[in-house]
Amino acid sequence: MLKNLFRKREYVTVSSRALDDNDNLPNIPDGKWINCPKCKNILYKEDLERNYKVCIGCGHHFNISAKNRIDQIFDENSFVELFKDVETRNPLNFEGYEEKLELNQVKSGLKEAVITGTGEINSLKVAATIMDSNFMMGSMGCAVGEKITRLVEYATENRLPLIIFTASGGARMQEGIFSLMQMAKTSLAISRHDKAGLLYISVITHPTTGGVTASFAMEGDIIISEPNAVIGFAGRRVIENTINEKLPEDFQSAEFALEKGFIDSIIKRRDSKNYLYKVLRLHGVSENAK
Ligand SMILES: [Zn+2]
Repeated sequence: MLKNLFRKREYVTVSSRALDDNDNLPNIPDGKWINCPKCKNILYKEDLERNYKVCIGCGHHFNISAKNRIDQIFDENSFVELFKDVETRNPLNFEGYEEKLELNQVKSGLKEAVITGTGEINSLKVAATIMDSNFMMGSMGCAVGEKITRLVEYATENRLPLIIFTASGGARMQEGIFSLMQMAKTSLAISRHDKAGLLYISVITHPTTGGVTASFAMEGDIIISEPNAVIGFAGRRVIENTINEKLPEDFQSAEFALEKGFIDSIIKRRDSKNYLYKVLRLHGVSENAK
């Protein structure tokens, strides 16, 4: 009969293939749980946040935003942002760059891939820049270079120790040679800070590569890293293809860099505030030096 055509079905058919594909996946409600990429354990997000975003099972350090890092390292409400209005233009008129910047600004809540300012670590005042890999992989264009340079110059003028937290995919390709120039510019400012007899601590976090590794990340008086951070210049495949050799498994890891003497220490995230405080005190930074 004609009306049978419009009758509601009492069941739905599901293809057996679709069932097979999803059979082995746990049913994880959105937003509350996260998979550890290293040990594959399923972690409750709130527990992870409480543990400095470090996996409770295997100690994997998840990436954190610059804002999270500020909360973890600096005394409550002590961080004062400087130079936050420095913005990137599109010096090469690179197609689609403005749209990409806008997208990343909305996604990360930041204007650029770095936050610069001053803050206190157990009441010791420092100048600090914190890079954020959520913004175009923390790549360094003109604005990132300019903000870091201004902050380092501010630290030199005000005789403040400097701490830079790096997280970067390297120079920003959309700004070409202008990006590469930032390596020399930031390095020069750091050299003046150094000549003024001031302390610079570089804290490397995952990943720190390319032009940032080749400039200020490796120019610290003291260079520390978070565990398992990738630290490198060119990518593994590029090097392997160039030298036609297989690289060691742990090549470009913080542990490898420590073994070869590129960095001074590997410090777990939960210990980093205390470690930085001790290093500052050891170098004569006192509460009066505000
Ligand atoms: Zn894990």
